[in-house]
Amino acid sequence: SPVPSVILNDGHLIPRLGFGVFQVPEQETFDAVTTALAAGYRSIDTAAAYQNEAPVGKAIAESGIPRDEVFVTTKLWNSEQGYDSALRAFDASMQQLGMDYLDLYLIHWPVAAADRYIDTFRAFQTLKAQGRIGSIGVSNFQPDHLTRLIAETGEVPAVNQIELHPALAQNTLRAFHAEHGIATEAWSPLGQGAELKDPTVVDIAGQVDRTPAQVLIRWHLQLGNIVIPKSVTPARIRENFDVFDFELDADQMTTLGALDTGTRVGPDPDTFA
Ligand code: NAD
Repeated sequence: SPVPSVILNDGHLIPRLGFGVFQVPEQETFDAVTTALAAGYRSIDTAAAYQNEAPVGKAIAESGIPRDEVFVTTKLWNSEQGYDSALRAFDASMQQLGMDYLDLYLIHWPVAAADRYIDTFRAFQTLKAQGRIGSIGVSNFQPDHLTRLIAETGEVPAVNQIELHPALAQNTLRAFHAEHGIATEAWSPLGQGAELKDPTVVDIAGQVDRTPAQVLIRWHLQLGNIVIPKSVTPARIRENFDVFDFELDADQMTTLGALDTGTRVGPDPDTFA
């Protein structure tokens, strides 16, 4: 595989480029994941809430690629937070995936008002100690959630998967992650497609003779992010993977970095429940 890996703080490796399946209908997921695996992707990002874990698992099983060569991530939904309910939700996800080992399990959102993310993470620690999960992490956590989680569980999450694209560069969180040894994984890395039309992105794409999507994925890789773009179109799935034979220069990185306006495409993690 041409994809370099990140070494997580627990010693496990995760590919820097993966394939996300948010909003991919259950009926289309098998074909999309099959196409992605054939294109060379070896990391798939799903969630219980996406209702497509079953076709993700089926596509991996039928690909002929050994299970231990594909990095599988799923996420625990908000309503299942809590120690016992997290253990049950994990079993349900594994049954959907048809797997007995998960590479990465994430708490999908902090839902801080419910105050159950500490107990949820303790359940994740139990499952990891049992060898059923390789790595445990979080998604959409803010610095105060991370600080509390680390203090109360004694464990630094391996990953925080957060909304991140040039309009929301997340410099504060990325610095916090670097300081604590948490890997940054970027969701909606293309701004759900909106940033492909940004004139600055289009201009840089012309400079390097690549597509806007390839420029954005390169920007993530060169920042050190793990990146999980989504598409159901086979040519785009392949295009988004074809990013390991060119580089953006320092000026181009700086120019893209200046697009940060703090604008989200998704919900606010401090209030989303
Ligand atoms: P994205 O930024 O990956 O954008 C996807 C959209 O961009 C596609 O639907 C398509 O319209 C367009 N697109 C993709 N490749 C293209 C190409 N080469 N040319 C033209 N258009 C192209 O958005 P996303 O799906 O929201 O995010 C990616 C993944 O991140 C998801 O699939 C999911 O796995 C994850 N995610 C996680 C959370 C979370 O809360 N943890 C939230 C949202 C998404």
